[in-house]
Amino acid sequence: MELHQYKNDGFKEFRIGCHACSGLCCTALYFSKYDGFPADKEAGVPCRNLDDCFRCSIHKELHSKSMKGCLAYDCCGAGQIVTSLYGEVNWKSDPYRAQEMFDVFVKTFYLQQLLWYMSEVLTLWPAKELWEEAEACIKELHVLLKSSPRDILEFDTESFGAKGNVLLDKTWIMVKKQVGNSKNFAKKKDFMGHNFKKSKLIGCDFRSTFLIAANLEECDLKGCNFLGSDMRDTNIKNADLSESIFLTQGQINAARGNLNTRIPKHLIRPSEWL
Ligand code: SF4
Ligand code: SF4
Repeated sequence: MELHQYKNDGFKEFRIGCHACSGLCCTALYFSKYDGFPADKEAGVPCRNLDDCFRCSIHKELHSKSMKGCLAYDCCGAGQIVTSLYGEVNWKSDPYRAQEMFDVFVKTFYLQQLLWYMSEVLTLWPAKELWEEAEACIKELHVLLKSSPRDILEFDTESFGAKGNVLLDKTWIMVKKQVGNSKNFAKKKDFMGHNFKKSKLIGCDFRSTFLIAANLEECDLKGCNFLGSDMRDTNIKNADLSESIFLTQGQINAARGNLNTRIPKHLIRPSEWL
């Protein structure tokens, strides 16, 4: 039986909507050239390629210019939420509120990621007994994210995040019980460049690991937990991640897959893989 079962497309709310955003990620965040952005940039300073209409002037060239950081970044829908909370005002039209907007964006991004994980819990049938709890968290966050910038800034993300992490840990225990575990890496976190090619890695714990440039080609990754792992340049060609858990769009965008890579249905296959 499949681990994920989808009742509806509950993930639409996380799709980025750059057309309805004031270029928040390209302005609010710190970027470095080393990480695949055009240049080193301080947080709060607009990227030199952001035009007057908040569009990326080199959007069509991001791939040919190897702007991997720009191509992989995904705000989980935080950009359009924050832009809409401020209505007609944006960081350019009201520079005195710019820093506040950037702070709200950073916090909203974190909360959207938590929402994403909670929404995935609702698709994981081994965690069925946690669905009610996950639904309550989702409801609380939906109300908050429709309230006001002030409410978001004052929200106690630390306590909420801690509660959310406990729920995700419990989910993981239930998934593991269902799929078993083919390899135990104990507490190992550094898999940079490691070659796992063609391995059966069912139920492996990759939480918060460094999988940068690791080779997961042709691996069976059913029930693997990728929460917070760094997957920049991870080779997932011909790999089966369709039943992996807690993968985000940003991780998938940063990895190297192909047409045969299988990914969970709630994620979008990056166009570069085609
Ligand atoms: S913050 Fe999100 S919606 Fe806004 S430009 Fe960046 S990716 Fe697009
Ligand atoms: S190059 Fe384009 S996508 Fe990348 S940070 Fe600058 S404006 Fe944003």
